[in-house]
Amino acid sequence: MGQSLKERSVHADPPQGAVAVDATRLRRALADEERRFAETTAGSHHLYRSAREVLVGGVPSSYQSGNPWPLYLSHGNGPVVWDVDGTDRIDYHAGFGAMVQGHAHPVLVREMHTRYAKGSHMAAPTEDAVLVAKALSGRWRLPSWRFTSSGSEATADAIRIARAYTGRDAIVKTVGSYHGHHDAVLVGLGTDAAVDPVSGTSRPASAGIPDAVAAQTLAVPFNDAPALTRLLSALSIRDHLPACFILEPAFMFGLANPEPGYLEAVRDITRHYGVVLIFDEVKTGLTIAAGGAAERYGVMPDMVTLAKALGGGLPSGAVGSTEEIMAVVESRRVLQAGTFNGNALTMAAARANLTEILTPEAYVQLERIGARIVSGCRAVLDEHGITGHTVSAGARGCVALSGGPIRDHASLRDYEHPGLTRLTWLHAVNRGIYVTPARPEQWTLSVAHAEKDADVYVEVFRELVSSLTS
Ligand code: PMP
Repeated sequence: MGQSLKERSVHADPPQGAVAVDATRLRRALADEERRFAETTAGSHHLYRSAREVLVGGVPSSYQSGNPWPLYLSHGNGPVVWDVDGTDRIDYHAGFGAMVQGHAHPVLVREMHTRYAKGSHMAAPTEDAVLVAKALSGRWRLPSWRFTSSGSEATADAIRIARAYTGRDAIVKTVGSYHGHHDAVLVGLGTDAAVDPVSGTSRPASAGIPDAVAAQTLAVPFNDAPALTRLLSALSIRDHLPACFILEPAFMFGLANPEPGYLEAVRDITRHYGVVLIFDEVKTGLTIAAGGAAERYGVMPDMVTLAKALGGGLPSGAVGSTEEIMAVVESRRVLQAGTFNGNALTMAAARANLTEILTPEAYVQLERIGARIVSGCRAVLDEHGITGHTVSAGARGCVALSGGPIRDHASLRDYEHPGLTRLTWLHAVNRGIYVTPARPEQWTLSVAHAEKDADVYVEVFRELVSSLTS
């Protein structure tokens, strides 16, 4: 086992985490990178000032905010995006994990032209919707599907369906997990989620959510099957079993994968208590395998939610389940609806995406590139005697400068180091790598990424680690 950065460090920086680096070195590196970022992003700064006059915080969505300003992008092609200053970067952000087909894929450009010219939206089913549902049933071995326009809508619909099917109100999620921006799931969220370990309750993570709604959402730690058993057993005694257990089966927080046996245990426990098991595969679906985590780990949920990579870059979402559960929708006891559900343009994109781009060969290629990044970064960690945390599966992966494996909310919280996270992001974007600000150590690849892109990622990582340790 290698040393953690903390073990190597001279000064322990913030109290937050197990990982610490020399505080003076970190401060200096941050100042240098902040300066470099400001000097090279004048166009984004200018647009930010103008945007703030009309867009709240200068952005269309709070997750697009930036410090000191967001990078405003102009266009993308294949694995590359350009900002308004004309700087190009290899895209490992992938529009929060959606652009697995890469930017402006020629197949999608052709399909969009063709479909738009024939009408893009009729709010009526098209043949493509049938083809997409058939492709998804094949990949997930769940027969009944409906579409939405986002991941949040997919999880909201899935939870409502589970509630109607079971006749129960409570739901269970995992501590810290994100499942979208609707009231039922904005509870027990983030690394500062303060969840009562016995009752599973916590405060809403956003103002504007009624306490009465938040009280129906309980949380248990990820990778902890006994905790789920304890909670369901206690709720069963009080005759207050939940409708569903919704979890991101892999890449929780973008970093933590299920330990051997965890998903199987979750399957058994939920079946035992008659609780609907929902795999939220909004991020893992179509990225870590053709049939997402269900295929990769061989565990079948009762319901699955998809979005992101489904729509080939257009807003999309889907809920799949068994005929028995979806009967509550078929009978119209549950309203599942939306003006843009199954939108003709989105369905044409999704059909081409599933049948022509995300092919079996594409997953082989994604796996190879991901493994190349991980083995390159692992070698860097080993050279510097750092334990770290590395994971890769299909298009998804991460390399974290942690003192050990990240397996749940507690180990993520221990690892969390705002200064190091900030430096990781700045260091990357200043050197041609585009990653998400919140978790810059995770990536999503596209089918357009090649070996040379992987090697750039590794080189930039090597430079970061050397600057912190040598
Ligand atoms: N579930 C998961 C696992 C997600 O990662 C996200 C988005 N990051 C959502 C649901 C919500 O999706 P959307 O942003 O499309 O509403």
